[in-house]
Amino acid sequence: MTAPDAAALGQRADLMIRTLGSISAEPNRLVRGFLTPEHRAAADLIGQWMRAAKLQVSEDALGTVRGHWPGTGPKRLLIGSHIDTVIEAGMFDGPLGVIAGILAAEHFAKAGRKLGFGLDVLAFGDEEGSRFSKTLSSSLAVAGAFDAERLDLADANGMTLREAIAAYGKNADDLPSAAYDRDVAAAYVEVHIEQGPVLEHRNQALGVVTAIAGQTYVNVEFLGEAGHAGTVPMLLRRDALAGAAETVLLAERMARDTQGEVVATVGVLRIPNAAGNVVPGNVALIVDIRSGSDEARHKFVGAFKAEIRALAERRHLGVTMTDTRNVPTTPCDPALQAGLADAVRATGGDAIKLVSGAGHDGMAMARLCPIAMLFVRCRGGISHNPAEYASPVDMGLAVAALIRFIETVKL
Ligand SMILES: [Zn+2]
Repeated sequence: MTAPDAAALGQRADLMIRTLGSISAEPNRLVRGFLTPEHRAAADLIGQWMRAAKLQVSEDALGTVRGHWPGTGPKRLLIGSHIDTVIEAGMFDGPLGVIAGILAAEHFAKAGRKLGFGLDVLAFGDEEGSRFSKTLSSSLAVAGAFDAERLDLADANGMTLREAIAAYGKNADDLPSAAYDRDVAAAYVEVHIEQGPVLEHRNQALGVVTAIAGQTYVNVEFLGEAGHAGTVPMLLRRDALAGAAETVLLAERMARDTQGEVVATVGVLRIPNAAGNVVPGNVALIVDIRSGSDEARHKFVGAFKAEIRALAERRHLGVTMTDTRNVPTTPCDPALQAGLADAVRATGGDAIKLVSGAGHDGMAMARLCPIAMLFVRCRGGISHNPAEYASPVDMGLAVAALIRFIETVKL
């Protein structure tokens, strides 16, 4: 069997991504929501590509397209990503993983080469959650972890998910049959653009993901005393914003001190009744804390809160802290990681390891089977933006590495 031509695969991936990227609800920007006419058109195109690749095509009740290449045994390697987008999206986030899966499966299917396990390429329709308020519906259904309460979620026009499924020509009652049997689903692997700048910074096309980061949101509210900006002396103030400002810099300093293990961000700062001549009496902020290690994240959150209590006391401020989100880390399987690393090295890369700071379908799929992810360098680390870009050369290397992984993995 001939070795894959990475350059040619990259050119094909690029053309496919551009073709898929032209399917949008709006003429001048990419918007492709779950269970919309654009989802239908994208799924039809994916199905067409899968059939051309000699895969058997089916769809489940949420419109997830599956392309199957049978193996000699009952187990299957699942390869997937998503074809829905955020509003004003780039073309690569999601489609690259689906297209890489099709091109890799085609390598075996067109040659009539059966492996010990089957290949299933999955094109999920709801990763971003841009139509209904929750994410990952498609992959949760496939993982057998779809919560039926989601069917009552409504989109911006008041249409429920249940109604949208019917309008798409599917039946919500068929949802349970979307789930894989645990004995069949041996592993899930996803190729995705990095959505960050690390690979570019390290001059590498590909990287192996060790974990999808866990996340904590801490809502912090400082209560001081509002006062006149001209008359209250500096030493008699209880300035809630000064306490919040110290907290922003504290988050930055403490996260920097972890040497990359934890990232912390204050993206929201609210100053009710803000005015130029008023000492702020009440300020709320949201701190987003992420890490590839739950232990490191919990330790960080504990130490961070202790520092905030201390600074509030020093500043004579009241403070409340509430965790509004607590998502555990999704670890990638060590044996699958090692297999991907070998495959990346076979393409000439260093196989550097990195944590995914963003969420992915793998979080849902980890409830079904071991998972792994291969990241592809994207220009400037930019994503969720029309400027999103991965080069044909890098995408070709990703497909070649995926083929190599499939050839060598033991399931
Ligand atoms: Zn994505």
